[in-house]
Amino acid sequence: MLLIRGGRVVNSQARRADPADVLIAGDTILEIGPPDLASPDDATVIEAQQRLLMPGLVNAHTHSHANLPRSLGDRWTLELHLNGNTAARENLTNEDKYLAAQIGAVDMIRKGCTACYDLIYEFPAPSVDGLNAVAQGYFDAGMRAVVAPMMADGIFYEAVPGLMDVLPEDLRAEIERKPRLKRWQEGLDVARKSLHQWPFDRDRVRVAVAPTIPAHCSDEFLVNAAKLTRDYDIGLHTHLAESKVQAIAGLELYDKTLTAHLEDLGVLGSNFTAAHGVWLDDEDMSRLADSGSMVAHNPASNMRLGSGMARVRHMIDCNLAVGVGTDSRSSSDNLNMFEAMRLASFTSRIQGPDYKRWLTTDEVFAMATVESAKVLGMADRIGTLAPGYKADIVFLDTRNPNYVPLRNVMDQIVNGEDGTGVASVMIGGRMVFEDGHMTTLDYDALVSKIENAVERLSTQGKQSTALANKLEEIVGSFCVGLARTPYHVHRYCGLP
Ligand SMILES: [Zn+2]
Repeated sequence: MLLIRGGRVVNSQARRADPADVLIAGDTILEIGPPDLASPDDATVIEAQQRLLMPGLVNAHTHSHANLPRSLGDRWTLELHLNGNTAARENLTNEDKYLAAQIGAVDMIRKGCTACYDLIYEFPAPSVDGLNAVAQGYFDAGMRAVVAPMMADGIFYEAVPGLMDVLPEDLRAEIERKPRLKRWQEGLDVARKSLHQWPFDRDRVRVAVAPTIPAHCSDEFLVNAAKLTRDYDIGLHTHLAESKVQAIAGLELYDKTLTAHLEDLGVLGSNFTAAHGVWLDDEDMSRLADSGSMVAHNPASNMRLGSGMARVRHMIDCNLAVGVGTDSRSSSDNLNMFEAMRLASFTSRIQGPDYKRWLTTDEVFAMATVESAKVLGMADRIGTLAPGYKADIVFLDTRNPNYVPLRNVMDQIVNGEDGTGVASVMIGGRMVFEDGHMTTLDYDALVSKIENAVERLSTQGKQSTALANKLEEIVGSFCVGLARTPYHVHRYCGLP
């Protein structure tokens, strides 16, 4: 048993943090009560004076494969990102995938995040060993995660109508020569095998499935991926209407919106998460809400890639569950969930003059905890500090300048905290970050292994990088042209 004594437990709905003690049995909260809570004599006491205790933040959308080849392009749209980001991730070994998960876990944990939904790309196809390596990375770091092999039986260049036709012959041939997942059945077989032989505690790390982007996937693949996830009662996650180019391409390819297409295929449902959803129209949001689907909102990535701003207030009006994510370190450069909350709050405020439509800080906090926990399929065990929930607890230092003076706890956590106020982090009753250090791994050793890996990867990726560089100008200008097409939700998205 553990007793956390002398802290103040954040109550986001009441917008207060009152003194309370927390009694923990194993990995679960047993009781939260007034100061001097009775506890067994042999309970280990953790002193939490000058600490705010809040539930660990839950990252609803990220990609560990982008943790090593990170921050590659500056003025990159989503499409330039999809073109240019492939090179460095083609040669990741299983050891690299493990290291990538670990550095991501460190980045998240020390900034107050205790669980994430990781969509993992493996080149050219997913593998049981690769998925296990990522899961092991999170498991050893002490973090909770949903790991989803991200796959498609098509490729980006073919998913943008007309793009392949404008490419010079030699570049097109080079793209066509690249290995790829040829049969969707192979990808789903990997997910099925992993589910049957999963060596990890599913409360800690579990499997989901992620068809990358609808237009990169055949209808048959999408239908069968959805069926598999329903058969095994696991999550299904895809990037949906992230950029205007995707939305326009969807209309050209399917003669209906991407969301309508997924609805017609029977893909939507209570295990389905749509990442981004910047270019959803009102009917799309109703489609998602009516099917019990969820959204992972990634405000930093949406701005970094110039994708636009998701209409989160309208999603909430539709009763859609909306979690918050960081997206990857190559599309939003860090995995700071405090920053993701801050940007979710702020972007809601520049979408219109009616301040009553802006997100409140307690709404944003709920999105990054309770709602993100729903996205991970773990709402009954994480995202809340209450008896019966896992002891995933972030300790904030009230002597940090972020809280001096402590005046409005929700405003200071959601709009003000940048991660520097995190004093320690507990996951499942275990302190994984304390006194500025991870307790679960040797950080210096991790850094030097990553430096070695990245040196090797840059050499191995030279040819692919050269191809991406040659394609960049053509992909960029073609997609800008496509994005000039009028699209009926664009008036909502804050883009010219
Ligand atoms: Zn993503």
